[in-house]
Amino acid sequence: MNFHIMTLFPEMFEAVMGESIIGRARENGLISIDPVNIRDYAFNKHSRVDDYPYGGGAGMLMQAEPVWQTYEAIRKKTGKEDLHVIYLSPKGKVFDQETAVRLSKEEDLVLLCGHYEGIDERVLEEIVTEEISIGDYVLTGGELPAMTLIDAVARLIPGVLHNDESTEAESFSEGLLEYPQYTRPEIWHDRQVPEILLSGHHANVEKWRRLKQIEETAAKRPELLEGLELTEEEAEAARQVLQKTR
Ligand code: SAM
Repeated sequence: MNFHIMTLFPEMFEAVMGESIIGRARENGLISIDPVNIRDYAFNKHSRVDDYPYGGGAGMLMQAEPVWQTYEAIRKKTGKEDLHVIYLSPKGKVFDQETAVRLSKEEDLVLLCGHYEGIDERVLEEIVTEEISIGDYVLTGGELPAMTLIDAVARLIPGVLHNDESTEAESFSEGLLEYPQYTRPEIWHDRQVPEILLSGHHANVEKWRRLKQIEETAAKRPELLEGLELTEEEAEAARQVLQKTR
């Protein structure tokens, strides 16, 4: 899968996305991350890409033409007329695991990162497929949101994670949070690893983990339980936690 990024700060991507699992996926050719500098498409001799907003108001806006020219360059490079363009914006739909799964099926994604007070609306109307926010707060630029999206989407692409890093039972994969996990030593600060995890009884461990997922979710994100089908025992476990936390 290819991530094409439209940004004023391409170096930010190299600094972060060359390490660990994402770095390995790039080296193995499973994904490519290609930041394109919008400033390279400035149309004045000072390489300016921003200007004052019509009607007044604080701050500067990114101009339409350099963004458009950057988009045209990516279209030319990919040879694709229609590209899926995501504008990272606090006004967008809030990013979640379901969206990450949907986007992981695409071959090419173009991520448009705004800066300053944002981007001239006219170019957004012409090129943007969808707007995505990473949460209800305002950051200085779209680069960190773009990297968040890339990380969440890339790890769902087959081969990016090794078998021992599987996404199967993790938080949100079945609408629940993950169960608590433990590693060696068996006792740390007088705290013992739950006995059942040492029993070697696979079915009992699975049952315990499922109950813990329900309890974790009831305690930390109770709204996720709405609409889920639970057994009597699971519903009772959720009720007990909810009573305690109310
Ligand atoms: N004036 C804009 C507003 O009030 O909606 C905020 C602009 S923000 C300072 C600059 C850029 O950062 C935006 O164009 C966007 O690309 C990015 N950005 C800021 N917060 C974001 C968020 N929560 N999710 C995604 N992108 C965000």
